[in-house]
Amino acid sequence: MTDKRKQSQSKAQSKAKVVVKKKTQKEVNATLKHTKFNPEIHTLHKHFQDFIEKDLDDESRFVCKACKEAKKSFYSGYYDNLADHLQTSTHNNVVLALNRSEEIQDAVKEFVEFRGRKSKKKVIKADKTTLDKLRIEVTAFMLDHQLPFIIAPSLIEFTQDILKKYGDSAIQELSMSNVTASQITRQTICKALQDSIFEDMQNSFFALSIDECSDKYGPSYLCVHTRYIKDEKIQNKLLSLNEIKESSTGEDIFEIIINETFQNKEYLLQKNLIGICIDMGPNMLTTKGKELFK
Ligand SMILES: [Zn+2]
Repeated sequence: MTDKRKQSQSKAQSKAKVVVKKKTQKEVNATLKHTKFNPEIHTLHKHFQDFIEKDLDDESRFVCKACKEAKKSFYSGYYDNLADHLQTSTHNNVVLALNRSEEIQDAVKEFVEFRGRKSKKKVIKADKTTLDKLRIEVTAFMLDHQLPFIIAPSLIEFTQDILKKYGDSAIQELSMSNVTASQITRQTICKALQDSIFEDMQNSFFALSIDECSDKYGPSYLCVHTRYIKDEKIQNKLLSLNEIKESSTGEDIFEIIINETFQNKEYLLQKNLIGICIDMGPNMLTTKGKELFK
C-alpha cells in the first residue's frame, strides 16, 4: 500500500467516524422526542390564532408573536410547554396591554383538553400480519376449549371492552379460579337474575315445572322452571337448580323448593302459583306437593 493510499484510507475512516458520531447525536435528539406543533390549536381559541404560530426553523417549537413584538427574551419554546408559556407573567403582562389577559385561562383549558383528547386517540395501528396471527390464536383458543365459533364476535367485543374499561395492568394482574367463577355466579349474577324473575312473578300468575336431573359427575339436582306472562308474552325461565344432597323423597323436594328456591318468598306460591308440572316419578307424585298450593 502506498503512503498516498494509506493517507486517503485513514481520511476516509475518520470521515466515516464523523458520520457515525453525527448519527448517534441524531438518535439522542430523537429520544428527547418533542411533540410537533399542531396547527389545529388555531381552531381552539382566538388567543392561539392571534398570538401563537409555528417556529419555521423547528417544527416542535412555537413562536409567541405578542411576546416577540414586545421584544421579550422568551418568545419561543417547545410546543409541549405552550401552556406554561401562556401562564408566565411575561406573557400575561404583554397581552394585558392588549386587553387580552382574561382569556388566557380559557385558552389554556382548551389546550389541555385538546391534548388529552389527542393522546387518547393515539392508537398504534396493527399491521395485517399481526391481525392474522391474532385471528389464528383466537380460533385456536376456541378449538382448545370447545367453544362454538358463533361466539367469536362477542368474545372479541368483550376483550376490547374490558381492555378499555380496566386497562392493561389490571388485566395482567387478574387471576381467577373456576371456584371463584362459580361463587360469583351463585352469589351475584344468579341472584340478580333470579331477583328479576321473582319480581316478574309478583306481577303475574305463574306455573312451575319441576324435575330432577343429574350431570355426568354424579350429583342430582332439582331443576325448577317457571312460566309466566310478561309484556303479553309467555316467559320460560330457569328459576333454580339446587343439588339434592342425601335423599330425594317427595318431602326433600318440597323442602328444597320452600327453603332454597323460594326462600323468603314463599308467599308468592300462595299469591300467584296456578299450576305445577311434574313427570310421573313417585317422589314427584307425593301428597306433599299439594302443600305448595295451600
Ligand atoms: Zn407570549
